Amino acid sequence: MTISETALTEIKDLLGPKGYITDPAAKALFMAEWRGRSVGSSPLVALPRSTEEVSALVKICAKHKIGIVPQGGNTGLVEGGIPDDSNSQLLLSLSKMDKLVEIDPLDYSMTIESGMPLYKAQEHARDHNRLFPLSLASEGTCTVGGNIATNAGGIHVMKYGNMRDLVLGLEVVLANGEIWNGLQSLRKDNAGLDLRNIFVGSEGALGIVTRATVKLFPRPRAVETIFVGFEDLDKGLRLLSKLREECGTSLTAFEIIPKAGLELVLKNIPDTRQVLDNIYQWHAVIECWHDTSLNDGIESGPLAQAIADGFEADLIVDAAVATSDSQKQDFWKLRENLSEAQREEGTGIKHDISVSCAKLPKFVAEAEKRVLAIHPGTRILPYGHAGDGNLHYDVIRPLDMDKDSFFALKQQMNDAIHDLIADMGGSIAAEHGIGALKADEMERLKPAIDISLMRTLKHSLDPHNIMNPNRVIKA
Ligand SMILES: Cc1cc2nc3c(=O)[nH]c(=O)nc-3n(C[C@H](O)[C@H](O)[C@H](O)COP(=O)(O)OP(=O)(O)OC[C@H]3O[C@@H](n4cnc5c(N)ncnc54)[C@H](O)[C@@H]3O)c2cc1C
Repeated sequence: MTISETALTEIKDLLGPKGYITDPAAKALFMAEWRGRSVGSSPLVALPRSTEEVSALVKICAKHKIGIVPQGGNTGLVEGGIPDDSNSQLLLSLSKMDKLVEIDPLDYSMTIESGMPLYKAQEHARDHNRLFPLSLASEGTCTVGGNIATNAGGIHVMKYGNMRDLVLGLEVVLANGEIWNGLQSLRKDNAGLDLRNIFVGSEGALGIVTRATVKLFPRPRAVETIFVGFEDLDKGLRLLSKLREECGTSLTAFEIIPKAGLELVLKNIPDTRQVLDNIYQWHAVIECWHDTSLNDGIESGPLAQAIADGFEADLIVDAAVATSDSQKQDFWKLRENLSEAQREEGTGIKHDISVSCAKLPKFVAEAEKRVLAIHPGTRILPYGHAGDGNLHYDVIRPLDMDKDSFFALKQQMNDAIHDLIADMGGSIAAEHGIGALKADEMERLKPAIDISLMRTLKHSLDPHNIMNPNRVIKA
């Protein structure tokens, strides 16, 4: 059903000429998915400036039964923040709601509007000598509201947790337009059911997050960054366990890079350099953030000592310690460009999986067998947040195969990997969420009772199915 002229007029009157976009070229910027894989359409992009405007807008949509698609920075990778192609859903961009509401350094908390880009939230914290630790490669564009709606992870989850662990309070506009004010900075509150956590990770399907109070931390006094090479994933996992023992809660990142991935980055990304003597089967960028200074210097810090023990235990074959910021950047560039480096080779079939850490080597070995059985010669890149049991599992076209023939194998590849994940008790959406892309797949793989509980929640909070319809859980 298209959005009626009456409804559009009510929306335009509410928001005023600067509060919406109807020009097709200007709208187009909001309609394409990040990787350009799909494009939606909406008669109007709404740009509300306050919670009250969001509330009034949702009331109009509820009255006319118009589906609303909230959008933050549009960096989500599962088609959750763009409308479908029916031209019957309203795109609601939070981009004009990007202000700092309050920062309280004594309380280690900060309240912001949800459309604030993540890098800005980090800057506000830094300006007050505090740390907001969430960090993702998309932080220049993604918003804190989007991070909350997707329960974003990133590279510091080992020490600081996912977004869920960083949210203290929320303000949410509900499907009937009512405003739920759950803004608070309490660290302890067991008064009743936890409403905040219903909305974290709900991908806009239960309500629109308009403001949030988030946790801040002391800034680290010292950072150790080390790049290591190792010959098999079992040893990498034993190294990780050793680092946990020896570095405790200072261990912040353990990000792995396979041989084929490092080769692609060095080949396709300018200004990257090999930081070890050789390219090994596996590599990891490992980081410890210390709350106190290191008296004996970076080169004999706890991480450097744990790595020395790793050498002795024959777990690693090579390592380099970053002694300057530019060396740190060189190390991280090799990790952060793994996705970009594939673009030159033709986009791959991507998966965002997790299993318990101890099962990672088994998953990687078994998944490789299954993928190569579908098409020998396929290039496989498992990389990323191994410290959390989360890998980006990208399957790339063999150089001698054309694009269409390769993508014809997509369903088969997805089934093979997702079935394995289900058998191993893992997740097919470790950090990017479900969106429209994986809604059917989640229903196929999750126990029926999980789906039924999710649907109960959806029906009771959004009885007319206007909140991001058909994303995450179908009504
Ligand atoms: C290069 C790159 C690297 C990435 N790395 C990571 C990573 O390491 N870890 C990780 O977790 N993710 C990563 N992502 C995915 C993405 O950046 C995150 O999912 C991010 O949290 C999305 O934020 P956004 O503001 O762009 O949200 P959008 O893409 O705009 O929206 C995402 C979902 O949230 C909903 N939504 C957005 N704002 C609101 C709101 N205010 N209220 C209710 N619902 C809302 C949308 O409807 C949609 O369903 C990466 C993406 C890219 C492109």
